[in-house]
Amino acid sequence: MIIVMDKGVSQKNLNHLVEVVEKAGLKAHIIKGTSKTIIGVIGNANKLDKDSINALDFVEKIMPIQKPYKRASREVHPDNTVVDVKGIKFGSDDLVMIAGPCSVESEDQMFEIANALKKMGVKVFRSSAYKPRTSPYAFQGLGEKGLKIIDKVRKETGLIVETEVMDPRNVEVAAKYVDILRIGARNTQNFDLLKEVGKTNKPVILKNGIATTVEEWLFAAEYIMNEGNNNVILCERGIRTFEPLTRNTLNLSVIPILKKLTHLPIIVDPCHAAGTRGPIPALSKAAIAVGADGLMVEVHNDPEHALSDQSQQLKIKEFETMYADLKKIGLAVGRKFV
Ligand code: PEP
Ligand code: MN
Repeated sequence: MIIVMDKGVSQKNLNHLVEVVEKAGLKAHIIKGTSKTIIGVIGNANKLDKDSINALDFVEKIMPIQKPYKRASREVHPDNTVVDVKGIKFGSDDLVMIAGPCSVESEDQMFEIANALKKMGVKVFRSSAYKPRTSPYAFQGLGEKGLKIIDKVRKETGLIVETEVMDPRNVEVAAKYVDILRIGARNTQNFDLLKEVGKTNKPVILKNGIATTVEEWLFAAEYIMNEGNNNVILCERGIRTFEPLTRNTLNLSVIPILKKLTHLPIIVDPCHAAGTRGPIPALSKAAIAVGADGLMVEVHNDPEHALSDQSQQLKIKEFETMYADLKKIGLAVGRKFV
């Protein structure tokens, strides 16, 4: 249920309502929007006396929440959520580019790529210290050693850094070294991991699973938000279809659909969908044209010799050309890369 009030409602009245909700054993999720203040009631709203709430003079109306996910639903939060990471605003009018290698391999590799990207104006640097590999014999990532390299890049370049977490036991240490945590496609429904990142104060990039529905994906976001962390950035990374010519199929139709269903920002990773470099510039342009709030792109100084995803990481020069083109697409849809 949603309780809608004018945005000028007093703190005393708001506290009173929160108390009523919590006394009934339910959770109150307060959202202060541009024109309204809303309390999203999480739990069985039948436990509340709706008539007496409706009778309060500062309550405009009460409405049921139609969607099964509550906190992630636009019904509860009509305005876009803007996830602000050190001044970079995901979900605002700005477009955000996240770029960097698939894996942390060495300090030299990381600094070479980070410095080149920084020169081009990229503000957010991606790289994984923990690697979800299909084969247990493939490179598994540098773990904490990799996190320390990421941290060194952050300190020396001033770039915002992010990394994937796969194991609830590594969330705390990763949160020490990075600005944004990422949940990859293989862990979209790892509920213990979602709860763990929900307990941190770090923004979370949440990818779709290769076979999750939009509703399952939003439920995954709900797990994170339920722990008190509302800074969730959705990232479309392709779904598994029957088509073998691409690694996965980039599902750009989810962008307008998600924009309607949720207030959360949504970015696109074209690389893990495509699986090869060729389609990445065209897919990236399409993602911005269709309304994505940004992109996550893999860039490597020597992709042919990378320790993971050799065929889909863009060369630095290729990225530079693509980024210049993307800025034009951004302007055509009234948005600008920061
Ligand atoms: C990644 O971004 O490094 C990654 C492993 O992607 P995904 O989880 O989408 O497969
Ligand atoms: Mn990769």
